[in-house]
Amino acid sequence: MAKPNSQLHSETIAVHAGRKIDPATGAVAAPIHLSTTFERAADGTFPTGFNYTRSDNPNRAALEKALAAVEGGAVAAAFASGVAAAMTVFQTLSPNDHVIAPLEAYHGTLRLLESIFTRWHLDVDFVDLTDLVALEKAVRGNTKLVWVETPSNPTLKLTDIAAAAEIAHRAGALLVCDNTWSPIIQRPFALGADVVMHSTTKYFGGHSDVLGGALTAQRDDAFFQSLREIQSVGGAVPAPFDCWLVHRGMQTLPCRIHAQCENALRVAVFLESHPRVARVHYPGLASHPQHVLAQRQMLLFGAMISFEIEGDRKAAMALPNQTRIFTRATSLGGVESLIEHRQSIEGPDTRTSETLLRLSIGLEHPDDLIADLDRALG
Ligand code: PLP
Repeated sequence: MAKPNSQLHSETIAVHAGRKIDPATGAVAAPIHLSTTFERAADGTFPTGFNYTRSDNPNRAALEKALAAVEGGAVAAAFASGVAAAMTVFQTLSPNDHVIAPLEAYHGTLRLLESIFTRWHLDVDFVDLTDLVALEKAVRGNTKLVWVETPSNPTLKLTDIAAAAEIAHRAGALLVCDNTWSPIIQRPFALGADVVMHSTTKYFGGHSDVLGGALTAQRDDAFFQSLREIQSVGGAVPAPFDCWLVHRGMQTLPCRIHAQCENALRVAVFLESHPRVARVHYPGLASHPQHVLAQRQMLLFGAMISFEIEGDRKAAMALPNQTRIFTRATSLGGVESLIEHRQSIEGPDTRTSETLLRLSIGLEHPDDLIADLDRALG
């Protein structure tokens, strides 16, 4: 099997990274190691490097190798979910450390900070990170971490990763980028991010059948080791079968994301032309206020779209009931297209417009997706 290295293209890395022919059987697909414990040698050591599955497991080790290779980082840690990965980042901090987080981001991340970590006395400021002057102004002497999510959930606002990293680094803080919506098509390490986070539940798994999270770091340094310690001691680790599924899904990630982005651009152009659509949020459209930044920092524009329809909440709630190919469901990144009324699932603190619908574009033929939306819009 080919040996992945940084000279290879992402398609090749995704197929081969973290894989080898099983020496015991010759199996090409990796075996799943369900054993929670591993035999000690006569001298009390662990010759294979594995001792107990919470600390490490062959399927997790293989997945982590692949995650690091695909993201272009030095090391990676795999988690039981995306929020477990995010939680681990914040758990490395101490009371009174200052965090700058986006005003708009995945509501679960904002909730983690607002309702859990403020109780642990993390000092958090939520800032409009489309505005670099606002970011610069928010920085303080105790700022330890800047968290960016770009494009952001749910209205696809962008943060200039390179500029944000520069501001964070000048303040002695780390820049962590939630890259869940843009695997392969946005390279945060090349733009200066220190840590890249993913909900691997989404595009890495790719089939809406496994929950997972990942943190990949530029350097195997003290910060990464503290993430590792919390992962292993705190126990937010993924099961071996879940690691196997994410690792399997990753093999087709580059091909899927390319096709899904192409479909999404076609759907976004269609929506923008529809008289019942008031506004489309998609960074690949020239009408997106940060389209120039999108062209600079993204290779493709992603497969997530949100749009606001003419009318009221009732009209927006009714639309997903009319689609036949789009399934009315939360989440994203799978092969099947999904639609949801975002405000109603975000809970009472939502800032999302009542007429906004969010689409996750899958691998169906774009003509069929457009026809489905056209019919539903009426
Ligand atoms: N970050 C982003 C941008 C997300 O969209 C999600 C889930 O929708 C998460 C994090 C959380 O991931 P998980 O559901 O795997 O915990």
